[in-house]
Amino acid sequence: MPPDQPESSRGRKRVRNPVEWKKNLAKRRRNMGEAYVSRSTGRQVQARVMRPPCADGCYDKIALPIVTVLHREFWAIGNFALQNAYIQKQVCKKPVKRHRPVQEPNEARLRSCTLEYTLAYADQTYTICKKGFLAILAVSETRVRTALKAITTTGSPREDKRGKLIPVNIISDAQLERAMQHIHKCN
Ligand SMILES: [Zn+2]
Repeated sequence: MPPDQPESSRGRKRVRNPVEWKKNLAKRRRNMGEAYVSRSTGRQVQARVMRPPCADGCYDKIALPIVTVLHREFWAIGNFALQNAYIQKQVCKKPVKRHRPVQEPNEARLRSCTLEYTLAYADQTYTICKKGFLAILAVSETRVRTALKAITTTGSPREDKRGKLIPVNIISDAQLERAMQHIHKCN
């Protein structure tokens, strides 16, 4: 609330709307990866859990205790837009090395990038496979795609998957910083 707000409207006790309250609780739990009751289907949705390791040993490469922390920290962000921002920082577009000359430059540009999945902890950045990345964070490929689309090239969140504008004013730099304290930006 702005400081110039008249005193009378400040600190007024808000009347709790039970429907709103339940909706917000469900949303908060969903964003935290906790079990919740879906407001649209009325179904109980299970808590997010890490999926079994990928076959190529990415869990071992990072070490299981750190894998667990990364999973927990991602869901502890508890905010859809900030989680998208996290995903966007960790999934990097990498140019594909080509062995033969390309005839069609436009087409080449479209296909010249591949996604590199990374997770960072302390000063270490681990490049892992897509399956491992999705399994550790317990997110779907669609969520990753959405996150990559939802963020502009400058790295600022644009809109979420429901097409609503994210109120960027509520996401402070400090919040973003906190959410991404382990993140190394790829070049
Ligand atoms: Zn893997």
